[in-house]
Amino acid sequence: MTSNAPYPPALDAGLETERLSQTIKDWSIANGLAVRPPPALVGQNQDPEGILAINAPVTLFPSPFPKSCFEEAKAIQTNYNELYARISQDEEFLGRLVQEVAGGDDFIAKLWEIHLKVKEEGYVQNLSLGLFRSDYMVHQDGDHLQIKQVEFNTIASSFGGLSAQTSLLHQHLSKTEYPLLTTPIPPNTLNLPPNTSAHSLAAGLRAAYEAYGPSILNHPTCILFIVQDGERNIFDQRHLEYSLQQSSIPVFRLPFSQLLTHTTLSPTPLRQLLYHLPHNPSQIFEVAVTYLRAGYGPNDYPTPSSWLARRRIETSNTIPCPTILTQLAGMKKVQQVLATPPGPSTLAKFIPDEEKSSALWRTFTNIYPLDSSSPAGREARRLATDPKECLKYVMKPQREGGGNNFYKGAIPEQLKKVPEEHWNSFILMELITPPAVQNTILRQGKLEQGGVICELGVYGTCLWDQKTGQVKHNEEAGYLLRTKGDQSEEGGVAAGFGCMDSVALV
Ligand code: ADP
Ligand code: MG
Repeated sequence: MTSNAPYPPALDAGLETERLSQTIKDWSIANGLAVRPPPALVGQNQDPEGILAINAPVTLFPSPFPKSCFEEAKAIQTNYNELYARISQDEEFLGRLVQEVAGGDDFIAKLWEIHLKVKEEGYVQNLSLGLFRSDYMVHQDGDHLQIKQVEFNTIASSFGGLSAQTSLLHQHLSKTEYPLLTTPIPPNTLNLPPNTSAHSLAAGLRAAYEAYGPSILNHPTCILFIVQDGERNIFDQRHLEYSLQQSSIPVFRLPFSQLLTHTTLSPTPLRQLLYHLPHNPSQIFEVAVTYLRAGYGPNDYPTPSSWLARRRIETSNTIPCPTILTQLAGMKKVQQVLATPPGPSTLAKFIPDEEKSSALWRTFTNIYPLDSSSPAGREARRLATDPKECLKYVMKPQREGGGNNFYKGAIPEQLKKVPEEHWNSFILMELITPPAVQNTILRQGKLEQGGVICELGVYGTCLWDQKTGQVKHNEEAGYLLRTKGDQSEEGGVAAGFGCMDSVALV
């Protein structure tokens, strides 16, 4: 790369771009950087045999990302793991926040109800596993660049499988294709850090599997992935499965909707969760770890039996990833309470070490409650309903998975539709405006060139004992870079707005 050539280069449509696109298309399919096609692309029921895959949307080049921000995000991940493990153990704290939002949020209320029912029966498994992802954007304050947290995910944190492949793709291109461009980028000039997200997340699952130990009922043990029907982002999950299977751990996939049909609870004091192979139900595996890639939103619970399925996992001896308490720890309300005065003292309660807690504190941006009684809540109500002030904010309900937030001018409109006593089920968050970056996105074979916004996610794995508080495993587990056009508000890759990317550290 010549020292003053712009990076990433803006390519003209032509042979050079065609060649680069074709290489990406082929490499992606050859290496599982892929998703199942949306029905809109192939036509409804046009893939009855389930044989088609298409490229995951991806940038042509790894986006430039500040090295100091990347390193900071990676370095504090184990502190974040510890924080959320501690929050998950504080039932009184979570219960209080659930009460604040439950009036306007039946889904959260229902999750809490299941937790209380299981508590009454008596939890039989104290070990709890978190496969977390902390998401950030870079905030520019004068010359100073600082990561600010967008959200903390405690359930179904996705893209760890595809993000490792994306890093490999960009590394491959940096060796084979970028040096051949009209304005070449010589090999070894981009700083592309390794990304072990798929194997590191699998290592978290493996740690829980090993901690569970052998079956006292003399069954073989397994890890069960609980998935959504018709999941299109299946290869992301498969990369984790393959990594586990490489270390000879039996892994099965079971749609959440079929959990009650293909599992039973052993009628013994420990209520082991037993998985009966659908094609041979007399062959039974004891489920050491249940990894939820479903169950995070109301759509996964269409009938009362869906809630019975969730309760079966929670009441059994399997190690859930996550428990209901850990899922609730991921409420946006929790993030808001940590960030709103007296935030530092709330944080200190969970993370007494001052150096650790101030490192976490630095990553918070302004987040407000929307209640009518606290000074912060009243101020937020003013900001959210003012036609000018609201343009600096995003309003979020207690939901996961993308497409649920209200941005800028949509905030006052939404509040008009909600009874005032339920406003507190939302939080109001200042919009982070990262420095502009240029890149080109390859999505469904078409190129989109222009300004993009990058969101960094850092994965973490944590295994702890709910009763004793002992942390048995706490690791940073690789990263995700998601990039979206700078005109788009939402950034979810699965939701169709964002794309996969990796970092070129600058
Ligand atoms: P979800 O749980 O649905 O993923 P998020 O809180 O991650 O909800 O918000 C979805 C997307 O909205 C993010 O990926 C990001 O692109 C955008 N977003 C959310 N909060 C902010 C913020 N404070 N500043 C800028 N963009 C944000
Ligand atoms: Mg998100």
